[in-house]
Amino acid sequence: MPKATLTALAWRQSLILWGFTYVLGLGIGYATGNLTGLLIAFILLASFQIIRSYHKLGRILDQLESRALNPQPEGQGVWAALESLIYKKNREHRIRIGRLVQMLRGYRLAAGAMPEGALVVSRETGYIVWSNKTAKRMLGLHPGEEDANLFRLFDADVKNWFISSDSEKPLLNVLSPGEHDAYLDFFQLPYTLVNSLVVLRDSTKMRRLEKMRSDFVANVSHELRTPLTVIHGYLELIEQQENPELQTIIGEMQKQSNRMNHLVEDLLNLSRLESGNMLPEEAISTGALLHTLQQEAVALSQGRHQISLVPDFNGLLIGSPKDIHSAFSNLVSNAVRYTPTDGSIAIGFRRNDINGLDFWVQDTGFGIPADQISRLTERFYRVSTSRSRELGGTGLGLSICKHVLNLHQAELRIESTPGKGSRFMCRFPRERVA
Ligand code: ADP
Repeated sequence: MPKATLTALAWRQSLILWGFTYVLGLGIGYATGNLTGLLIAFILLASFQIIRSYHKLGRILDQLESRALNPQPEGQGVWAALESLIYKKNREHRIRIGRLVQMLRGYRLAAGAMPEGALVVSRETGYIVWSNKTAKRMLGLHPGEEDANLFRLFDADVKNWFISSDSEKPLLNVLSPGEHDAYLDFFQLPYTLVNSLVVLRDSTKMRRLEKMRSDFVANVSHELRTPLTVIHGYLELIEQQENPELQTIIGEMQKQSNRMNHLVEDLLNLSRLESGNMLPEEAISTGALLHTLQQEAVALSQGRHQISLVPDFNGLLIGSPKDIHSAFSNLVSNAVRYTPTDGSIAIGFRRNDINGLDFWVQDTGFGIPADQISRLTERFYRVSTSRSRELGGTGLGLSICKHVLNLHQAELRIESTPGKGSRFMCRFPRERVA
């Protein structure tokens, strides 16, 4: 039956009962034959109804207070309707809570069984509200350990990352406080206004593999260096004029040994940068640096291009002079190598909108297709392999450039239109400008 009809029926039943009570009062009064009898009968019946109502109200209060579900109420009238409505709501509420508890248990079991560490952490205080077994092991927390705090378990880097605005980026390779020589990657998912879900992934294996790979490349390059220097030295000694029949062969051998030398030097450089090993920092004069870069570009271009400087800033850049020079000179030499004769190249510095400094190189060269731009900084990635080789490229220049910039908290931005030219920009933060 619809709810409105049920309520109407309950009211009707109650009114009939009250009506019946008053008719009964009138009947008794009439039977006694005087007004006092009538009044007494009315008072007695009204008191009976009031006591009955209080009794029902008492039962309803008991039902509201009780944790157990009382048996389904029976009866008629508004009190009975109220009682059965409360009973119904109570039952629905219990079923819903039961389902939620089941779901919560399921989620907890799933989170507990995750191979990754999972933590619920208060965004304001760093207090660990909940953690699964894996996270406890990774963080070295003992069962039942109360008031564990993420900020106290790690140094300031983790706290700064956790509260920073770009904490959606993972924090990689943090030394684990729980396990010896183990490393963790942190991921954060803010899921309520006050708490964040932090997922911990063990990156020890990946780190070891990465280290093995980079050690291997560094060792091989190092071992190749001496024999290559010897071969290169002897090739230089051979006088081409004395052996005209071997001229082409010796020329090609010298070219290839030069290429191998460059490759080995670039690989060694890259290994050093990858291991975070930066050469000493100084305040670099941007004016002098621009001048050197221009001279190098002119020498490489040999009059085939128009090269101009745009020194909108003439101050100091804080960084490693050798690494910064190698990164910038890579961009300049690329601009010269990948711009056809009669093209133009502009090089400049300017303050940017974050109060930092931009170094930029613009050319009117071959350009790069949009879908390849994001891959340019990968080792040995070339848009056109044959053109790169022909022009003496190793395919490592932009990778070195990216690593140098990373170590200076700077980033590389590339804009390019095939057939029209490219613009490479190194964006340094405020702290790097003096
Ligand atoms: P490479 O030694 O081959 O030049 P880089 O890492 O310096 O290696 O550059 C990677 C690739 O990016 C190059 O092979 C080339 O295809 C492309 N590239 C780099 N700079 C430019 C540029 N200014 N114009 C067009 N293509 C470029």
